[in-house]
Amino acid sequence: MTDFEAIRAEFPILDQEINGHPLVYLDSGATAQKPQCVIDAESEFYSTINAGVHRGAHELAARSTMAFEDARAKVARLVGANWEEGEEELVVTSGATGGLNLLATAFGNASMGRGGEAARKRFGVGPGDEIVVSKAEHHSVLLPFQELAARTGATLKWFELDGEGRILADTAGDVITDRTKIVAVTHVGNVTGAVTDIAPIIRRAHEVGALFVLDACQSVPHLAVDFHALDVDFAAFSAHKMYGPTGVGFLYGRRDLLELLPPASFGGSMVELAWMDRPADYMMPPARFEAGTQPVAQVVAAGVAADWLMGIGMENVEAHEHELAGELLGIQDIDGVRLLGPKSNERRIGTIAFEIDGVHPHDVGQYIDAQGIAIRVGHHCAQPVHRHFGVYASNRASAGVYNDKADIERFLEAVGGVRKFFG
Ligand code: PLP
Repeated sequence: MTDFEAIRAEFPILDQEINGHPLVYLDSGATAQKPQCVIDAESEFYSTINAGVHRGAHELAARSTMAFEDARAKVARLVGANWEEGEEELVVTSGATGGLNLLATAFGNASMGRGGEAARKRFGVGPGDEIVVSKAEHHSVLLPFQELAARTGATLKWFELDGEGRILADTAGDVITDRTKIVAVTHVGNVTGAVTDIAPIIRRAHEVGALFVLDACQSVPHLAVDFHALDVDFAAFSAHKMYGPTGVGFLYGRRDLLELLPPASFGGSMVELAWMDRPADYMMPPARFEAGTQPVAQVVAAGVAADWLMGIGMENVEAHEHELAGELLGIQDIDGVRLLGPKSNERRIGTIAFEIDGVHPHDVGQYIDAQGIAIRVGHHCAQPVHRHFGVYASNRASAGVYNDKADIERFLEAVGGVRKFFG
């Protein structure tokens, strides 16, 4: 039996009062809190190792490089990616947004012929080609690929959603056509908490020779995820949502694809040879995509977060949060509350978005905050899915591994008081 009470005790931030009440943190979908081991890992790195990676002949630089690569390997183990030297499949980024922009920019560069003919053929898009996303996407998927379509003359298409905000995966045969070159969808909706049925979408994408890009931001912290088993081509996620530090994330790319992909940003530490009168020879991945000084302390701490999650076991995390999701769904019994997302506890995580009849989400958020409970209000960087539900904004409660039943009870009690308070 996993001791989730002991796990909760590892988070110092939770041991405080907010507005005179013990803190209940239900905003892990935005960013997760950090266990002490992650907090310590950053400061320990600065106290004992701090040096740039992959350069410098001194001992600290060697230790820093080892710690950095070791962290990459730990995160790779968590998500089912290769980590052996020369086979690495995770690129360090500034976050999921950074990873998705890297990818869309690199595809754009390939479309212009950068990276050669083989790269243009594999990654390039142009007039007549299609890029497919969904209406459930976070803006960090929608906008980079919309921009890529605008820059190259490709057409942006999308999956529609059902009444619960689920991506209509069974329409893959129609939405994805022989002209589709890239398909990018979310694994778990950041508004609805719905787990996408990605298997038929991936199958169809590969059937027509398209690349499949997964936004794994909301799945990696909550579900057992294995990119090899899923057969995705690329995937992006952020460390700060998986109990790691802010400012870093990872882009997964199948090794053969990463080796063919041209770079997206340019500078130090990514070239073998640089010349005045001809283009540089770029390094092999992942270095090719990691220009400039890396956030080494944060990557090292992200590795500790990955190890910590693996120590708990993702199947245990999943089971615990499944129970919390079941409790959260009790919100449907409260008068005047409308749930925006799957109503049953199947193929979903413990993230629920809702509106309260006649009360603006900002008022809801403030009322709940006054009771020491942190939730998120607004459009959660996903306006099309809100439009789908006919609202501009919503309230969102999102659970993490440190929440317990008592947290959810306090949250539901607070929600129950909203309409009475606002009359
Ligand atoms: N995709 C999803 C589903 C998200 O929930 C988020 C963050 O809220 C992102 C992408 C972007 O992540 P980041 O802001 O860490 O780059």
